[in-house]
Amino acid sequence: MGIKENVFQMLRELPEGVQLLVAAKGRQPQEVSEAIKAGVRIVGENYVQEAKIARELIGSKAEWHFLGHLQGNKVKKAVGIFDMIETIDSVEIAREIDKRCTQLGKVMPVLIEVNSGRELQKAGMLPENAERLIREISAFRNIKVMGLMTMGSVSRNPEDSRLFFREMKKLFDEIKGLDLPNVEMKYLSMGMSDTYKIAVEEGANIVRIGSKIFGNLR
Ligand SMILES: *Cc1c(COP(=O)(O)O)cnc(C)c1O
Repeated sequence: MGIKENVFQMLRELPEGVQLLVAAKGRQPQEVSEAIKAGVRIVGENYVQEAKIARELIGSKAEWHFLGHLQGNKVKKAVGIFDMIETIDSVEIAREIDKRCTQLGKVMPVLIEVNSGRELQKAGMLPENAERLIREISAFRNIKVMGLMTMGSVSRNPEDSRLFFREMKKLFDEIKGLDLPNVEMKYLSMGMSDTYKIAVEEGANIVRIGSKIFGNLR
């Protein structure tokens, strides 16, 4: 099936209130454009430079979310490109984003990346440290925390991610219940091609899909 049919099918399948983000790393702007024409509203990018090129060609027909590991020296460029940064996992990077956004007079919506599977090689905060980070970030005027993002488990069995997703939803609700200033817990971004069904069952409202839309990366 083509990209268009894959998007149609995915949009039909996802329940009301769950947004489809297409993960565009390694794809041609042409492919991303096709997905947008089929109804995709959010594009996720892992690389700042790749995003810059795609966004210049495609423009604001979609929202652009950053999914990669953000380095300090890329922040300035990134805040000019992205509508949301989903991968905040340190106060230092948040401070740098706040500084650059202050210069631009813009407020950046962000998600906190949580290493729900507690895997050493993974980015993200450990779940028990997420609240502290969010409290620190809530002091920044030009960043707004809008929720949590997680990858789940590296295991090849999608069911292995279920408990991590469930814990994420619990953490999400707990932090929401704190009613912190400048924090609006709205988005829970979890689930990829292999795990999105489970993620949706466990409360995700953004799923990030790459290969199931575009095919396997070559
Ligand atoms: C690549 C990627 C995805 C999508 O992965 P697929 O398995 O291709 O659906 C989702 N989230 C992040 C952060 C990614 O890098």
